[in-house]
Amino acid sequence: MKPKILISDRIHDKAIDEARLFADVDLEFNLTPEELVDKIRDYEALIVRSGTKVTREIIVNAKKLRIIGRAGVGLDNIDLEAAGEKNIEVVNSPEASTISVAELVIGSLIALMRNIHHGHSSLKKGRWDRNKLTGNELYGKKMGVIGFGRIGREVADRARAFGMDVLAFDPNMTAEDARENNCEYRELDELIKEVDVLTLHVPLTEKTRGLIDTARIESMKKDAVIINAARGGIVNEEDLYNALKNDTIRGAAVDVFESEPPEGSPLLKLDNVVLTPHLGASTEEAQINAGTVVVEKIRNHFKDA
Ligand code: NAD
Repeated sequence: MKPKILISDRIHDKAIDEARLFADVDLEFNLTPEELVDKIRDYEALIVRSGTKVTREIIVNAKKLRIIGRAGVGLDNIDLEAAGEKNIEVVNSPEASTISVAELVIGSLIALMRNIHHGHSSLKKGRWDRNKLTGNELYGKKMGVIGFGRIGREVADRARAFGMDVLAFDPNMTAEDARENNCEYRELDELIKEVDVLTLHVPLTEKTRGLIDTARIESMKKDAVIINAARGGIVNEEDLYNALKNDTIRGAAVDVFESEPPEGSPLLKLDNVVLTPHLGASTEEAQINAGTVVVEKIRNHFKDA
């Protein structure tokens, strides 16, 4: 018998097609919480994004439910305790956007190093600023990756393809891990002092909030750049602004902000920055993967059961 899956938030059509290969799939967007409490009784699996709140009441009434798939990263819309009590597996797809984020990091870095954003906007204003916009190559420069998880590793691979040397710091890695990934391990503060490009790929936790602050920025090379496409607040925004304004470092590429949208952030006034509105996961591929990865995990759940 095929399992029955209810999809209550819109996911990519490709993911729905894949689910239909092994399950009976119903799409019911815009259900009220009461309707979902009633509806869920018939289903073995539920797929949501952030729109559906999977409350204790829904879980208690889900007589047949065995797995909940959250297409995307967070799990805050799912009552994990209630799911755990009923032994319902909960899966999500944080890996879906890994490549997209890594590519954005490299794109922003090249824009910053070669003044692509300035060339574009000054040319559109009718200027021909060739002499003012001399940049630098990535080749032969040192990149420091803080947080050597999914995204950090992909960024490192791409940086090496440009001929960069990569140093890495992660409390969960060893010097041998680094060597196996063609990188060199450094302790955090050593790495920060040594690199031309510092890129952050850690989660936002009490330990990583403000990880990059004035003291650490002041220890960097004067012509170094910082990239934050992880989470706002890992680089202290005010400290970064002051450092960029005072030319303590050369520039920064920032995709994530302490408050989003970053209304009133002083970073918006600077020239030596490349700013993007949290675009890391904004690709068609990442959207497709967010759904297909979860569908694959659900398929494996029923295959292994
Ligand atoms: P991951 O869990 O695979 O890797 C995170 C790594 O950080 C782990 O290896 C962990 O050991 C390491 N780490 C934890 N604390 C650390 C510390 N204090 N110092 C150094 N390393 C530490 O996560 P990921 O999928 O690679 O995601 C990395 C970051 O990117 C997260 O903050 C995530 O929220 C963010 N992200 C941003 C976007 C975007 O749109 N810009 C999209 C997806 C993910």
